[in-house]
Amino acid sequence: MSDPRLPLLSRQAIAAQLPARSPRHQALREFRVQLLARRGAPVQVAEHWADRLGLRDHHRDDRHLCHECKHLQRGFGCTKRQPVVLYVLMRCAAFIWEKP
Ligand code: SF4
Repeated sequence: MSDPRLPLLSRQAIAAQLPARSPRHQALREFRVQLLARRGAPVQVAEHWADRLGLRDHHRDDRHLCHECKHLQRGFGCTKRQPVVLYVLMRCAAFIWEKP
């Protein structure tokens, strides 16, 4: 049984749709891996999501993860008192990017 924290798209499906990565995209991917890992994701999950987020950007999808938001707190609370949803791409009016 697969880890429910993993994206629905397989790594192979993501890789097939992602164009070659520039150094800037590689740096962003690494930032995302570190951010998700810092926020409790196992490395395998963090890497898979970092690739999925790269594909999201490529498709100009405006959804995001709570893991990417500066309002996510330790213990997975939200400083904006919004309902936190982990490991699901969604839209939240209070979302603000966590910056490198
Ligand atoms: S503000 Fe929205 S996106 Fe940010 S942590 Fe809270 S629920 Fe998640």
